[in-house]
Amino acid sequence: MNGFYKDYADFLAEHFPGKMQKLAINAGLSCPNRDGTIGHGGCCYCVNSSFVPRYCHPTDSVTTQIDKGIQFFGKKYPQMRYLGYFQAYTNTNAGLKHLVDLYDEALNHPMVDGIIIGTRPDCMPQQLLSILGQWHHSGRWVMIEYGAETRRDDTLQRINRCHTWADVVNAVIRTHSAGIPVGLHLIAGLPGETLDDALESVDAAISLPIDTIKLHQLQVLRGSKLASDIATGRESVTQFTLDQYIDLCAEIVRRTPGHIAIDRFLASAPPAMVISPHWNLKNYQFAHMLNRRLSNS
Ligand code: SF4
Repeated sequence: MNGFYKDYADFLAEHFPGKMQKLAINAGLSCPNRDGTIGHGGCCYCVNSSFVPRYCHPTDSVTTQIDKGIQFFGKKYPQMRYLGYFQAYTNTNAGLKHLVDLYDEALNHPMVDGIIIGTRPDCMPQQLLSILGQWHHSGRWVMIEYGAETRRDDTLQRINRCHTWADVVNAVIRTHSAGIPVGLHLIAGLPGETLDDALESVDAAISLPIDTIKLHQLQVLRGSKLASDIATGRESVTQFTLDQYIDLCAEIVRRTPGHIAIDRFLASAPPAMVISPHWNLKNYQFAHMLNRRLSNS
């Protein structure tokens, strides 16, 4: 506990006795907002390569990707245990058997104690949720993270998310009812939104039965539709300073109840991919700045 809020390490310590590391897995699944199932073109800001580590290659099996991740992290911390993090694209976007096989392979790895599944709120079939709930209750630790991004439906439409806030509420309640820990992901500074809008999204999120919340600043990335729309004047985003963003995060800490862990506050895509903002900070550096602000307020 950093003294100001429950962070992700605190959350993991409630579930696991030792040090845990998330290992990203790219299971080669697509996204229904790209393959035409739900929409086309994807969310305007999305560039998946900005957050998938180089060791994650979808042509490698889940086990191989985990082994490569352990080679990377295990040298420094030999006692470390791992969580398989199905991160790239939409990790519930396939047939039930294929999904169960993928998750099962990760959970069967001898160094893995649980899995985290990142997905969209409109892509969680009840049958899959029931299976995952049974696994979780029988000791196979599972968590679901949903991309919510904002509680404003007009923004969700503007950024081409192709789901609504009602979908978020529905998915969170069903996941919580299945007894599975659930996290929500939000973005501050989406097109048409102010920092107050981000605060209102946080308020809406923390009113739901969630376990973790993850917020980050919008990054305009090279190769995204957002970048080309800004370049041609079809879209715009409100620029805010790092100082303003730290103030926002301090207010979020004040509002977030102690039982909800705050996973992170910062997106940090490779600098060469980032058009704006150019903060160039690591998570721990931002956390120090935020803690200083909280200490002085
Ligand atoms: S952010 Fe997620 S839902 Fe949106 S296009 Fe990218 S992978 Fe699909």
